[in-house]
Amino acid sequence: MTETHDAIVIGAGFSGLAILHHLREIGLDTVVLDAQDGVGGTWLANRYPGVRTDSEYSYYSFSFSKEVREEWTWTQRYPAGAEVLAYLNFVADRLDLRRDIRLETRVESAVYDEAANTWTVYVDGGAPLVAKYLISGMGVLSQAIYPDIPGIDSFAGEKHHTAHWPRDGVDLAGKRVGLIGLGASGIQLVPEIGPQVGEFVVFQRTPNFIVESTNDAVTAEDMAWLRDNYDAIYEKAANHPFGVAMEPAQFSALEVSDERRREIFEGKWNEGGFHFANECFNDLATNHAASELASEFIRAKIREIVRDPATADLLSPKTYSFNGKRVPTGHGYYEAFNLDHVRLVDTATTPITAITPTGVRVGDTEYELDVLIFATGFDAMTGTLTNIDIVGREGITLRDRWERDGLRSHLGIGVHGFPNFFMSLGPQTPYSNLVVPIQLGAQWLQRALRWARENDVDVFEASLESEDWWAEETARTGKATVMYTEGKKAKAWFLGENVPGKPEAFLVYMGGGQVYQHYCRELEESGYASMLAERRVPEALSS
Ligand code: NAP
Repeated sequence: MTETHDAIVIGAGFSGLAILHHLREIGLDTVVLDAQDGVGGTWLANRYPGVRTDSEYSYYSFSFSKEVREEWTWTQRYPAGAEVLAYLNFVADRLDLRRDIRLETRVESAVYDEAANTWTVYVDGGAPLVAKYLISGMGVLSQAIYPDIPGIDSFAGEKHHTAHWPRDGVDLAGKRVGLIGLGASGIQLVPEIGPQVGEFVVFQRTPNFIVESTNDAVTAEDMAWLRDNYDAIYEKAANHPFGVAMEPAQFSALEVSDERRREIFEGKWNEGGFHFANECFNDLATNHAASELASEFIRAKIREIVRDPATADLLSPKTYSFNGKRVPTGHGYYEAFNLDHVRLVDTATTPITAITPTGVRVGDTEYELDVLIFATGFDAMTGTLTNIDIVGREGITLRDRWERDGLRSHLGIGVHGFPNFFMSLGPQTPYSNLVVPIQLGAQWLQRALRWARENDVDVFEASLESEDWWAEETARTGKATVMYTEGKKAKAWFLGENVPGKPEAFLVYMGGGQVYQHYCRELEESGYASMLAERRVPEALSS
């Protein structure tokens, strides 16, 4: 007998847990499927040494559950991955979510049945499941990618990707270790494993602007303050363009004296992490000259911290400016290059030519290694959705739809041709601390599906016009930022530039999380007008 539910959610990370809780609250029979053997999503998969949040504990958590707020205690300002994983397990237990979560259940495809207005979800090694609503909570940076380097499979030593780090860890003590990839993942790994390994060869193609931070302990007073102010903190984060509980800066980097600018940069550098990016000036993301001033400040910091001038110079990005890549928070990244056995190899001037059974060849020089680590990133935002067959009306997959028509969604929530399919953090949702749009998105979905039931609406489906509008709005706002010009130079994942052959498009909405929420509210207040199906097949697809 076919197992039927009201809703099937794919993914048991932050998104899946929030959605399950909110759909249960309105009485929808919901099941969550996840390929991994535990809840936690990205925090279960990414268990590499040094993994931790780049957002601070106070706004990197849900605010919707009084029990969770009152009973969970954070210990670090930037919680380690293991702590976030423990938090998500706590949420799953405290909200009694596990009874509706099916682990080690890999979804292979999901097919819409037009006559029945249902989705059939096919899983690896089990019977198909059927539901009216299909919801993706598969995460935005989950489809890990390896570089296209000749000989990659020939390496005879241990080879690991940060996104598939072995559960029992990797013994790196005293070994010759190589690392390819210096985005937010690689830069967290460097200071953590640097002191343990025998020799450390860090292959750098493009340097990053790392904003260093300290990781203080969260005290009992801090937690009491958080519990007293949770709603205000959450509201602040929800009203901030990037979903952080910070005051957006009010003036331009170009309108103050050099001395005052230095003081402000210095102050926010000392506060650490995203404070620097968000609280110094209001135009570091929108004005190239301002972003270049921030770049120069960080380059000077690198020269101060790193003792060897040649290494400091190599670590300083020169081909693009601040915000051209997603800015990572560092914890002793630059200091790690002061260790004698840590060696930075520039692969921009002389590229990696091959991976051999014994190591990595750069030009004609071979670096012999016992362990090779890839922190080479993800097929971001769309990768997880196009990696499985999500088959909508007329038998068209989401992959084909986007290949033929370009990236299309309505607010990153729905796609024309895919009725009653919803995405948490779909492509074209905000570039943000993601817990905020996840929670607000789950609450939006709860209200939408309750409204559908109350109004006898059977089908939600984004209109073609709404997709065109959102594609234009995403491109327009994105192109007004330095993330466009600088991101192209830096081959940023948010433009799809990090995946060979992926069409360039803003994969995230750069117009601000608070603006995005305004549009979501407008859609709701309109009675979901642009999501009530006009049942026609896009011309591009019917031909
Ligand atoms: P990433 O930012 O895409 O960085 C990938 C790195 O791999 C880059 O340094 C890239 O070099 C390098 N690379 C890729 N292919 C290469 C090749 N063929 N040869 C040499 N180098 C190559 O990936 P990530 O570090 O995993 O981070 C992705 C995103 O995940 C982050 O931006 C962030 O949003 C999220 N994340 C968040 C946290 C956190 O919040 N704590 C932690 C980790 C990740 P090039 O720059 O030269 O292309």
